[in-house]
Parts: sequence; C-alpha cells; structure tokens
Amino acid sequence: MKALDEAVAEDRVAVEAGGRAPDEVLAVLRRFWGFESLRPLQLEAIQAGLERRDSLVVMPTGGGKSLCYQVPPAVAGRTDVVVSPLIALMKDQVDALRLSGYPAAALHSGMDQMEVRDVEREVAGGRHHLIFVAPERLLTPRFLELAARLKVTSFAIDEAHCISQWGHDFRPEYRRLAELKTRFPGASIHAYTATATARVRTDIVEQLGLTEPAVLVGSFDRPNLLYRVRPKLDVNTQIAETIRRHKGEAAIVYSISRKDTEHIAAYLASQGVRAAAYHAGMEADERRRTQDRFAAEEIDVVVATVAFGMGIDRSDIRCVIHAALPKSIEAYQQETGRAGRDGLPAECVLFYSAADVMRWRNLMERSAAESATPAEVLESSKQLLEEMRRFATVVRCRHAGLSAYFGETYQNANCGACDFCLGEVEGVADSTVLAQKVLSCVARVEQRFGVEHVVDVLSGASSERVRRLSHEKLSTYGILKDLPRKTLTNIVYQLVDAGLLERTPGDRPTLKLNSLSWEVMRGRRAVTLLQAKESKSKRTRIEEASWRDVDEVLFESLRKLRREIAAERGMPAYVIMHDATLRELASVRPTTMEALGGIRGMGEKKLADLGARVLECIKAHH
Ligand code: ADP
Ligand code: ZN
Repeated sequence: MKALDEAVAEDRVAVEAGGRAPDEVLAVLRRFWGFESLRPLQLEAIQAGLERRDSLVVMPTGGGKSLCYQVPPAVAGRTDVVVSPLIALMKDQVDALRLSGYPAAALHSGMDQMEVRDVEREVAGGRHHLIFVAPERLLTPRFLELAARLKVTSFAIDEAHCISQWGHDFRPEYRRLAELKTRFPGASIHAYTATATARVRTDIVEQLGLTEPAVLVGSFDRPNLLYRVRPKLDVNTQIAETIRRHKGEAAIVYSISRKDTEHIAAYLASQGVRAAAYHAGMEADERRRTQDRFAAEEIDVVVATVAFGMGIDRSDIRCVIHAALPKSIEAYQQETGRAGRDGLPAECVLFYSAADVMRWRNLMERSAAESATPAEVLESSKQLLEEMRRFATVVRCRHAGLSAYFGETYQNANCGACDFCLGEVEGVADSTVLAQKVLSCVARVEQRFGVEHVVDVLSGASSERVRRLSHEKLSTYGILKDLPRKTLTNIVYQLVDAGLLERTPGDRPTLKLNSLSWEVMRGRRAVTLLQAKESKSKRTRIEEASWRDVDEVLFESLRKLRREIAAERGMPAYVIMHDATLRELASVRPTTMEALGGIRGMGEKKLADLGARVLECIKAHH
C-alpha cells in the first residue's frame, strides 16, 4: 500500500516534468484521429504500452484512457488484446475506430458462429491492431490458442475496477484475469479505470499480479463540469426548469426508485421533452430500445436508476441531474462523470433533501436484513452515505470538496463552476428567528411528531390530526404561514442536517430537541439557513466561452448531418463525430478539404469518407 502510494507520488513528479510525444506517436495521432497533442498522462501511459511495462492508469471518465491502449499497437505494428466488460462499449469503440481507418475487431456473444470465425480469420492474419474481448471469452481454450498463435504481448484491461469487490461494479468473471500473468508470462498488462479509491487501486495491482507497474493517476477534477446543489422543493418542476436550459441537448436524470423514474419521465414528456425511463425492472428489449434511441438522438433525456450509463458512451451529455441524493460520493462522481466527456462544459445539478438520506438508510437496512449482510458492511455503506450528505450540505467550493474527498488538493480559489463560487447560495434573512420558531414548535408539540405534522402546525394547516389534538390552539400555530410548505419542510431538514434538531430513526421518525436546539432558542447560538438564489443568466461564463465564435445554427445543421450519417450506417451519432469537432467546424467554417483536415477530430480516413458532405453542409449554410 505504502509502496503504491509512493509510486503514485513519484509518477506525479515525472508527469510534471512533461515531455513531447515522439514523432511516430504524433503521426499515428494525426492519421487516425486528427489530434495534434496528447492530454496529461496519455504520453506516459502510451510509453508504458510501447515499452511493455505493466501499468495502472487511473483517469477520470472522459480523460482519454482509450487512446492510451489504441496508440501503442498502431505505432509498434502489433496486435494487442483489450478486455472490456460490455458488448455495447466494445461495439461503439470498434465502430468509431473503423470509421477512423484503424483496424480493430471485437469477439463477443452477440455474434453468430460464422461471424466469429470470420473475425478470427482476420485476426489471425495479423490485420488488426486491437481485438476486444469479454473476460469470459479471453480464457477459453480457443481464444488462448489464437492469442498464443498471434504472439500477443500486451493486454489492456478496461474498467479494471471490476476485478475488485471494493469497487462499485464488481464482476466475478474479472477475477479470472489473475491467470493472465501465468498464461502469458512475457506479456505486459495495462489496467485502466476511473475509480479513484486507493483500496481499489491496490487491489487491481495485486489481483492482476502487475510487476513494478507504472502507476499513473490523473487529476480527478473535471473543470468542465458545473456542480450545483439545490434544495429539493418541487422536484418535477425543478427538473423541468433545469432541462429547459439544455433544450435539444442530451441529459440524464438519476433517481432512486423505478417508480420515480417513470413519474419523472412522464412529467417531462407532458412538458414536451423527449424523455424516457430506464430501469432494471423493464424488459431487456425495452431497455435496449431506450438506449438505442438515446444514442441515435431520438430522445434527449433518460430518467434512470443507477443501472443506466455503463453501456452508454454518448460523449455530448450536457446535463446530469440527481433527483435524489446518490448513496456515495463515488457514485456521484461516477454518475456526474458521464456528463461532458467531450471536454465541453456540462451542468450537474443535485436536488438535495435530508428525507432522501433517511430513505437510503431504510433501504440499506432492509436490504442488509434480507441478504444477511455483515454489520460492518452495512456500517460502511452508511458511512459513505454520510460523506455524501456532508458534501451536499457543506457550504464550500464543490470542486474543492470533491478533490479533497479523493485526496487531492484543489488549487483554484474560485473554480467559476459551482454554485458556491458563482455566488448562487445565500443566507436566508432572519435565519435565527426562523429557526427559533421551528424549534419552539417542536417543543410545543412535545417532541412527539414528525416533520409533516410540525410543518402543518407552523403553516396553520387544518388537518384532521391538528383538529383532533387541538393543535390550532398552540402559540406556534400558523406563525410561518407566509412561507410555502416546501420551503418550511426544507428549513426543518436544514436544521436536522446542521445538528440543531434530531430526527429519530425508524419507520415513524419524530423530531426531538437536543442541547444545541436549546442554545438556539435561548439566543445563544446563531443559525444560517441557506436558499438558492435563482440564476438569471442562461449560461455561465465557462459555457459562454465554449460557444464563442460558434455559429449555433450551423452547429445544429451539422448535428443533423451527423444524425443522417449515423442512421445510414446503423451507428450511434456520437460514434461518427464528437460535439467538440462540430463546434470547431461551426466556428472555423472551413471551405476546402485542406482546411477541413486541420480540424481536431478529422483524421485522414474520416476526411476522405465524410469530408465532402461536411463541406457541402457548411457551404449550404452561407
Ligand atoms: P475515457 O475512456 O477515459 O472515459 P475516452 O477515451 O472515451 O475517455 O476519451 C474521451 C474523449 O476525449 C473522446 O471524445 C476522445 O476522442 C477525446 N480525446 C482523447 N484524447 C484526446 C486528445 N489527445 N486530444 C483531443 N481529444 C482527445
Ligand atoms: Zn467552486
């Protein structure tokens, strides 16, 4: 563990020293991808691949991991094997590579015998630089023989955290990858993951038996993501408002339960948004259809439980909304990480309510009881949830908060990309007086009721229970009737979050006072309640900058062209060209093949293949 941490520290130093990519690497970059430079750590990862030194590469989603294992075999003129957990991911990658003229193939269970044999023949001819396989196929005698015949010398393990039970996506079939080192003693193994925790990293190195690996850990901060946390009031309306800021753009909404996903999707559809639900309770066919329609840009919003996302590689997701608190910061990082993989700005909004913390706790307890989960496992998931709650409720820069959680120091004083740094969170006027009113109401109802009843009394509702108990006679009855119920509820939960009020666990939680509550009521402790200041401007400065000089009408025409090409070829739109390429096209507006070749993302093959149609689209726009 210690050694690994030291290795990480050393490699960070090496990276800062930096270096220019060798010419043969640059030539491959230009030819297939039309890229001019490498991103941080890509060079080091590619060098490990070329030198065939074992490596563990940890980069955030969208960091550019795939390039790291795609470049070395193309430079060295060899065939490498990539282990990947999902057919959809393999297919997308192979499609995108082939469009770029890069010879690659996949072998998976979705192919029939004939197709498998054809691909095996091609592969045996040494025509491909990469073969993608699922872990269970890798270790079949048939594939082992093929790999031996090809003298495969390098294996890349994508989503390597799947090997670790401490990760968020453990797959037992990944465990067998431990055999690789004994089956191919001379080969190098290169593991890739976006999972940040040290425990998972160490586990990957140990399980795969990596020898003196180059450990390359990128920064986890995603500067292009704008993080906002808003109090959850009327969540459907709040979601619809957020989506409206991203009209016609791709978004994912995450919620806890299947029912929630369906309700939210239906509500959005009623508001004219092209949205669909996605959850584990749906038929596999229906799920696939939703995924395909999202990939084809036929729908813009998917409302999902966490089951959605692994198989989707759409890089132009501009917005990720959490309709409820995720159960850990790891999950939050993973889910928000699906936004803005193309490096362009994207917005992540979390609607927070302490009620969701209780909901998760109950879910965790119930599922632990059902599956006889050891107490310490339950305890640790509660701990992770608590960290997430703290992240959502602490008032500080969100980028700094996330960095700190993943053990990094965040350098910027103002990130310019979170609600706190943008000055969108403000204190409620007279917070302390408000808090005193709420707390004394809890005292008046003798600490025997839950949030709902206390809010009833404060807002002067005439519920059956209020009348039965004659609570309309209490001095606190109706003292906050000017505030909307949702706001009142939120204030009560803010007090709970701040530890100024207790809420008992269990099925029928009641509000109780503690010593801090009394300090507040006696005027010995000041309280700051928060509210979100609604931002008026549609785009932040960072978003604005990403659109600078971009002709937005042309951008939309190019998107349409991309959809057409995608439909003709039966591929997802994002596989054809990335948004970053389209925006550059819509700002540079090249009119010759030569100028077009200078656009990032236009490699040689793509230029020959799609260049004429792109130019036509640009010219038609004049
Ligand atoms: P990851 O696998 O780490 O999530 P990807 O490999 O899918 O990330 O890369 C994310 C995006 O960044 C892709 O659109 C890819 O084309 C782009 N990209 C990667 N490396 C570079 C580079 N050196 N220059 C420009 N774009 C890059
Ligand atoms: Zn910030």
